[in-house]
Parts: sequence; structure tokens; C-alpha cells
Amino acid sequence: MPECLFCQIRDGELPAEIIYTDEQVIAFRDINPQAPLHALIVPRQHIPSLNDLQPEHDGLVGHLHRVAARLAADAGVADKGYRVLFNCNRGAGQTVYHLHLHVLGGRLLRWPPG
Ligand code: 5GP
Ligand code: ZN
Repeated sequence: MPECLFCQIRDGELPAEIIYTDEQVIAFRDINPQAPLHALIVPRQHIPSLNDLQPEHDGLVGHLHRVAARLAADAGVADKGYRVLFNCNRGAGQTVYHLHLHVLGGRLLRWPPG
């Protein structure tokens, strides 16, 4: 099985600035932040992309979003506004094939994204 960057971070084999963990997910700061808050929330389970989600993941996906709201609150951007997103596959810019929810905030986020 090819090495997965985010499995390696989960397992402590690669360093990351981890800001939240629980039994289902870990969250760490993006290495190339696009906003003052740019965190990635990563399920502990290796799921390659949104296309691989199954009905049994519904609770996990809800949890990812609740953790996003918590991180936004912790960063003090909950009221002002923030964005959460999944990139799915190459055409949307996915580069790491281990599901992750981006959380961006702390600056004005324009729409539509590029
Ligand atoms: P994607 O483009 O797949 O939606 O998002 C992958 C994100 O992971 C990118 O924003 C990229 O900057 C970030 N990233 C890639 N490698 C590393 C790494 O080794 N550590 C951390 N913390 N973030 C990474
Ligand atoms: Zn993985």
C-alpha cells in the first residue's frame, strides 16, 4: 500500500501542528495556509475521497463539521465567518487522497473560489 501523508501524520511518523484530536479525527494546521486559520480535519480512518463515503460514514461526516465549527470558535472567527470545504479529485485540486475537511477563516473569503 502506498504511503499516505495523513496516515503518517496520524501515526506520529511525520510532524504536524496538531490542534485537536479525538477518537474519530485529528486536526492540524495546513503547511501552506491560505488564511490566518487554515486547518485540516482528518478522519483517523483512511478514506481516499468524498466519492468513497458510505452510509456508515454519515455520523463521521457530521462530526467533521462539528469539529470545524469548534475550531472556528476557538480561533475567534465563528461570528465573523469562515469556510469549510472538501476538494474531491484532481479537477477540484485534491492533492492528498485521504479525506480532509479544510477550515478557513480570519480574512475576507471571496466567492466564487478559483
Ligand atoms: P487538498 O488539495 O488535497 O484538498 O489539500 C491538501 C492540503 O494539505 C493542502 O492545502 C496542503 O497545503 C496540505 N498539506 C500537504 N502536505 C502537508 C503536510 O505535510 N503537512 C501539512 N500540515 N499539510 C500538508
Ligand atoms: Zn491515509
